[in-house]
Amino acid sequence: MSFTLAIVGRPNVGKSTLFNRLVGRRLALVDDQPGVTRDLREGDAKLGPIKFTIIDTAGLEEATDESLQGRMRMLTERAVDMADVCLFMIDARSGVLPADRVFAEILRKKSARVILVANKAEGNAGETGYYDAFSLGLGEPIRLSGEHGEGMIDLQEVLMPISKEFESRQIEPETDVVIEALDDDDDGEEITFSKSRPLQLSVVGRPNAGKSTLINQILGEDRMLTGPEAGITRDSISINHEWDGVPMRLWDTAGMRKKAKVQEKLEKLSVSDGLRAVKFSEVVVILLDAEIPFEQQDLRIADLAEREGRAVVVAVNKWDIENEKQEKLKDIREKFTRLLPQLRGAPLVTISAKTGRGMDRLHAAILQAHKIWNRRISTSALNRWLIDMLDAHPPPAPGGRRIRLRYMTQVKTRPPSFVIMCSHPDLLPTSYSRYLVNGMREDFDMPGTPIRVFMRSQS
Ligand code: GDP
Ligand code: GDP
Repeated sequence: MSFTLAIVGRPNVGKSTLFNRLVGRRLALVDDQPGVTRDLREGDAKLGPIKFTIIDTAGLEEATDESLQGRMRMLTERAVDMADVCLFMIDARSGVLPADRVFAEILRKKSARVILVANKAEGNAGETGYYDAFSLGLGEPIRLSGEHGEGMIDLQEVLMPISKEFESRQIEPETDVVIEALDDDDDGEEITFSKSRPLQLSVVGRPNAGKSTLINQILGEDRMLTGPEAGITRDSISINHEWDGVPMRLWDTAGMRKKAKVQEKLEKLSVSDGLRAVKFSEVVVILLDAEIPFEQQDLRIADLAEREGRAVVVAVNKWDIENEKQEKLKDIREKFTRLLPQLRGAPLVTISAKTGRGMDRLHAAILQAHKIWNRRISTSALNRWLIDMLDAHPPPAPGGRRIRLRYMTQVKTRPPSFVIMCSHPDLLPTSYSRYLVNGMREDFDMPGTPIRVFMRSQS
């Protein structure tokens, strides 16, 4: 698999210029298209033999007022979360500014893997800024000129081992989580949402499931909403909206954009919108058409949301035209359990996007799913639980040697992720992991959310 690189840094250091150089003509959305605000751009990049995905956080050039700075920060954090490696860019000509240190701090806090780049260093320009960059404490900077293409070989050299490392990886990079227990007494903090920290939401589903109708129902009177920042309109990638007192950010899917007058080029590019919306979301609403629930496409989308580790709410739409409601619901529940075991227990809500029925239940289910997704379980509680689980059903003993599971801790939330120290991780059958995951769902009350368990050997 290839890796994802995010270019971060304050405005005007040259992020877009480098992005364009690396992505070349295979570019994602072009920036000067009217009506298209791009918060994060994504493109397929190539540098020499190295192929990777690149995310650009530019697009907030006029980040002068506070709300924009907040958004810039949020976007950067988001990009860092999505990326395997961050290219942190400073302007070598202006040296290290206080704003650069803010970004350095974000990267440090997130323990991101950082490649520090001193840009605009063509010729001998930016010598001072280059040395200045060492003071950020993020290692040796690379001298670069994105505009003139200088230093690209050096960048390639640094990226090469990373590329090799990812090529050799078969499974998701998350197996490399750092083992660091979370606070012991923290039992699921109360999350408060704000304008600068909205709940990130997307609605996905097959064509005609009713996505646009639902979005319009959510937006209500606000449907032509323009944010404080110009360009945040219906045809942008996301919309901020307060839904029943909860600030949310709705990520665009093809359905949302369909009705906007956007050029054909964008329509073509929007194929991957569903995927992108899922990646940017915290909670994904999978919208089903009650008439034809759980079609192949629905299952693919649900599986994608699970694999991306998002919190999921299943909403069954067009309930207003359903005659045999009881029967139907039974049928849908049965299919859900059978076809989507990986989302066992996820909230299932019947709604009518058209009439607005069930919207309050959907709202509540979204908040609930988000809360569970953020759940933290103390190490002591986990290990008490693990002992009980092992007692009830000991792991197998291939070749007479019992596999030992010694210690367990939560390493991450969003989704809840755990590491278990194990004597022979490679020999432990997946059915045993599933036993543990399902047990955790029940015993720690975490229905529906994706749960990750990584077995680690103790060498
Ligand atoms: P962003 O806001 O970080 O995406 O920055 P841009 O890519 O839009 O670049 C900001 C300005 O810096 C533009 O005027 C670019 O032409 C200029 N710029 C970008 N890279 C270089 C470089 O390597 N050398 C010089 N001298 N200017 C550059
Ligand atoms: P999208 O392709 O997923 O965005 O679907 P649309 O929102 O465009 O809806 C597709 C069709 O289903 C339209 O004709 C809607 O009027 C209809 N529709 C959407 N939601 C409902 C609903 O709750 N009840 C009924 N009866 N029709 C609905």
